[in-house]
Amino acid sequence: MTTKYHLHRTNILKTIYEKGKFSRKDLHELLDIRFATITEIIKELIKEGIVKEVGKRKNEKGGRPHSLLSIVPDSKFFIGCELTTTGIYSVILNFEGKIIKSETIDLDLNESKENIKEKIVYLIKNVISKCGSDKNKICGIGFVDPGIVDTEKGISLFSSIMPQWRDVPIKNYIENEVSIETFVIGTSQAKVLSEKFFGKGKNYRNFLFVEYGEGIGCGIISDNRVVHGAGGVAGEFGHIKINGRTEKCNCGGNGCLEAIASIPSIIKKIKEATKKDMNISEIVSRYLKGEKIIKTILDEILEIFSISVANLVNLFNSELVIFDRNFEIYKDFLGEIIRKIEENMVYKYPVRFEISDFGKEIGAIGGACFSISKFLKLDN
Ligand SMILES: [Zn+2]
Repeated sequence: MTTKYHLHRTNILKTIYEKGKFSRKDLHELLDIRFATITEIIKELIKEGIVKEVGKRKNEKGGRPHSLLSIVPDSKFFIGCELTTTGIYSVILNFEGKIIKSETIDLDLNESKENIKEKIVYLIKNVISKCGSDKNKICGIGFVDPGIVDTEKGISLFSSIMPQWRDVPIKNYIENEVSIETFVIGTSQAKVLSEKFFGKGKNYRNFLFVEYGEGIGCGIISDNRVVHGAGGVAGEFGHIKINGRTEKCNCGGNGCLEAIASIPSIIKKIKEATKKDMNISEIVSRYLKGEKIIKTILDEILEIFSISVANLVNLFNSELVIFDRNFEIYKDFLGEIIRKIEENMVYKYPVRFEISDFGKEIGAIGGACFSISKFLKLDN
């Protein structure tokens, strides 16, 4: 077999996946591959169980109808595993984004690097064992890291929210333990991939996923591709600097958006002003009742946040902004937040604003999507 043959095979598989349903003739016309080669490769893919025939389309020239080909959803599985400050999440997805198995393990913020590594592998082994004989279908693992990563080498370099998680060659570690090819991706990039593959961003070529909660981040899809950046850390939205602000950030800097507008930062600021401990739901409910101190503080913070989001929309000419599910706490005044963003947009073209449907597994799902994307060579 030649390299060219493999290249054709990859292109054919990728095209069938992207198109959903496609005929041999469509492939021949789109990819400019000899018909005989297409027939041979499809025969092989059908025999392997990756591709199947799913009906026929009328032949406009009056000849035999064209058989439509599609990917077999359960023919391959992909693992996603996300490390967060409170736990590790792992899922196994099929080609359609269906969760086949999932597992979670709690984590203490102060756990050592060695403990965390062991828990990651324990969880992955656990989720694999739940697959039984289907474990042979698993093609890759996407590990989702909370900090800055070297995606090429698969090393976790540094995390502002988990200081002990630094310089970990996590790709090699997982591969040595479970013998499955592993890829490393940052949290915001994984989350935006979940939206792109199976969420609200499916039909958009330019959109943003704004991560919101303990930290703030941003996943960017530009011209249909994830923006990774030179070192794999594009989208550090939480660490853009706000002029004139001095709040100390976990990254070591001052005046970062995350140090002003993340949930813990809001709680801290309200406590300083009211001398009371309140969680975010209580803060929002008092805000809605019009409590003056809370209203002044939260309005100012949300204004800074909204202007920052508008800056992103202006930079990337996005057509859609998807907010993290945690953003639902602001649902009663989401309209005002959106108005403030729109006020600061340079072009008044229509931008959609949505809240994500994904729950806590969004990051892990994105890791699995990254692994699908590597398997099919989708350029994400
Ligand atoms: Zn920072």
